Amino acid sequence: MTEPVTEPATEPATEPGPLPVLSLSPAGTRRTRPARHLADLDTDARRAAVAELGLPAFRADQLSRHYFSRLESDPATMTDLPAAARDAVGPALLPQLLAPTSVVECDGGTTRKTLWRANDGVLVESVLMGYPDRATVCISSQAGCGMACPFCATGQGGLERNLSTAEIVEQVRSAAAAVRDGGLGPDLRRLSNVVFMGMGEPLANYRRVVDAVHRLCDAPPAGLGLSQRSVTVSTVGLVPAIHRLADEGLQVTLAVSLHTPDDELRDSLVPVNQRWPVAEVFAAARRYADVTGRRISIEYALIRDVNDQPWRADLLAKLAHRHLGRLVHVNLIPLNPTPGSKWDASPAPVQAEFVRRVRDGGVACTVRDTRGREIAGACGQLAATARP
Ligand code: SAH
Repeated sequence: MTEPVTEPATEPATEPGPLPVLSLSPAGTRRTRPARHLADLDTDARRAAVAELGLPAFRADQLSRHYFSRLESDPATMTDLPAAARDAVGPALLPQLLAPTSVVECDGGTTRKTLWRANDGVLVESVLMGYPDRATVCISSQAGCGMACPFCATGQGGLERNLSTAEIVEQVRSAAAAVRDGGLGPDLRRLSNVVFMGMGEPLANYRRVVDAVHRLCDAPPAGLGLSQRSVTVSTVGLVPAIHRLADEGLQVTLAVSLHTPDDELRDSLVPVNQRWPVAEVFAAARRYADVTGRRISIEYALIRDVNDQPWRADLLAKLAHRHLGRLVHVNLIPLNPTPGSKWDASPAPVQAEFVRRVRDGGVACTVRDTRGREIAGACGQLAATARP
């Protein structure tokens, strides 16, 4: 087998130089790269990898059907492969990347959070949510996060490392298998939506996330066959990466975590704003909407007495309308208080007034439900490494 390879903990930034305002991993941190896995590879690369093992190319398609169509990850179950082939492909292409270390449920079994341990020990979380009409999994793209938003639990611990493409895809495959097998009840058997709203900043792990989107959305057996429009990539607003994503030819939904429409406050709520301010974020979002035809989702965590004033609702509506016209939807998230935080959610009347003003400004606005609160699985509460 190949020697463990090391790589820098972070992908090269989309622009030269580190981001000075961010708490990235300690300089020079090097980690063992996650093992290569079938889900890292596109169809051609799978065939090449199988050929390297001395197996005929059709074995790659067989493996892909097991993994992407039947959602199987354990080579032992792939009994149509000769034993020798199973022994070869197991360690080379289907190593176990993530071990579930705990699964907790709430909301009557319709919300289920899984804590995963990767082979180098880092912990990440994903949350599966069942609704009457759909099943959604919220997944992590990085272990930890370097964006340092002060209200977000993951942001407090800094970035540990990027997840590999296959580590991202595995969270979805496993959720899809759980739904198919009745994990969300007998009536909901198909995972339909994926949101990159777990741990990490997806656009700071750009290539692996985009590759993962292809694995999730390519037709089986190349990929899991989800609709691109049912995949949401959420970002703090890494402007060059938004432009790059617009040019990928994908139809994924882009969510932008704005949290306030003014630079003065956003500089502290979303520190990367010091590098790419609100106007640039709106301009990049506009271009994404123009190129893809997709409506932008603006995420806004409503924090009592911090960003919930009527004038901010009015300014948000004005800017969203001016820059994005009808191609925008504001998603208010009642703040999920994180341990030790001085902040809290806004009172109901304040929230209602905020919604009313945004709508009066001509902008669609809804309040996100707060699934997973009591299992620390709600937005911004995922911080596996902070707990014992
Ligand atoms: N890095 C990406 C994904 C993060 S999580 C991004 O920032 O978009 C998805 C959403 O949850 C983001 O909008 C994030 O700002 C929000 N969030 C983080 N902490 C939160 C909290 N404590 N309460 C409510 N929403 C939170």
